[in-house]
Amino acid sequence: MTSGATLLRAGVFHTPRNPFREQSALECFADGGLLIRNGRIAACGPYSELHAVHPKVPVRDLRGGYLLPGLIDTHVHFPQIRVMGALGRELPDWLELVALPEEARMADIAYASDTARRFVRALAAHGTTTALVFGSHFKAATAALFRAADRSGLRVVSGLVMSDRLLRPELHQSAAEAYCDCSHLIRQFHGHGRLLFAVTPRFALSASEAILEVCQTLMREHEGLRFQTHINENATEIREVARLFPWAGDYLAVYERFGLCRPGAVLAHNVHASDSELERLAASDAAVSHCPCSNAMLGSGLFPLRRHIEAGVRCALGTDIGGGTGFGILKEALQAYALQRLAPGGMSLEPAHLLYLSTRAGAEALQLEHETGDFAPGKSADFMYLRAPEGSPLEGVLQHAESLDRVLAALFTLAGAESVAEVCVGGEPVVHDD
Ligand SMILES: [Zn+2]
Repeated sequence: MTSGATLLRAGVFHTPRNPFREQSALECFADGGLLIRNGRIAACGPYSELHAVHPKVPVRDLRGGYLLPGLIDTHVHFPQIRVMGALGRELPDWLELVALPEEARMADIAYASDTARRFVRALAAHGTTTALVFGSHFKAATAALFRAADRSGLRVVSGLVMSDRLLRPELHQSAAEAYCDCSHLIRQFHGHGRLLFAVTPRFALSASEAILEVCQTLMREHEGLRFQTHINENATEIREVARLFPWAGDYLAVYERFGLCRPGAVLAHNVHASDSELERLAASDAAVSHCPCSNAMLGSGLFPLRRHIEAGVRCALGTDIGGGTGFGILKEALQAYALQRLAPGGMSLEPAHLLYLSTRAGAEALQLEHETGDFAPGKSADFMYLRAPEGSPLEGVLQHAESLDRVLAALFTLAGAESVAEVCVGGEPVVHDD
């Protein structure tokens, strides 16, 4: 009965419930156990109890570190990893002068393949096991990302980025080409291993009605596709969208017209949302990816988290690389915390909220909560093992932490990639493809 089973012993944190709605959503064990059998979570609880029930299961003693569910990044652009850190621009200029020229370089498949490998490696290095990723405007580059993700074992949801206007001519495709390329990628990768396809118009600004119709058709033609795009990020962008779609009452109405605001849809940013948009988002069960580092770097604005939560809109976190500042979802959660401290009417976030936003909330946004996001029995064993490097400031803080809440807060504040000692998906270490 114990074949293929291992009992991991360490500090354990997870949020099997939503702390925005329920008290005591956080489960944590100072001397915890995570029983893994055949790549799945079999049990999670105090080590002593699990060991008593399963005395013959081999134990891996990882005391001194902490097991957390694998992190989930719900908004990130793989072609933009080399343009992080451009300062002093807002979205329209940043796109034109920084991001899109780099996206155009993905036409070179050797360059794109190298970028995909670096991207996947960086996700895993930061403890991210699931990501919703903007692919490339080019089919071959998007396929390269899917292949790199597949080799690594990470759970990646991605798609060809579709646009037919207002970017750069080499990034535009016709509606017919977009349909054909997406259909091909869906057949090749959707549901293959841990990969899923997401229909991905860049944003309403660069997608004509013909492209949005293609999105609607693809969603109808295939089971289980996800959908991702941008919304309400920047005041200039919002004004332009209103001009381009004079029939739409607001930004969200553009996506609604084509049936794209739906469960499994993730709309990035929504910094400048009306009450009506929030109400309709909540009713649709679509999710918003909050990217606080990017919002601050591009001066997009302070995210109205309280209004989203009170309206009942699902929210999760995204790094929005290259607008954001790095791959760490822990850092992203800390930035959400910090900006909420400054935002008028901001929410006060506790460590449990940060963990939920970094893990289970992302799984729910992607309709993967049956598979990942916490340590409930039956789920895939997707986890990261955090251990403070010897002599590091984090080690010092952890030695003096008087409660598990304080430990978790310290991990969010100080644990970067150097503290990520192991990352597993389905109980197996992520494969590094060098
Ligand atoms: Zn983005």
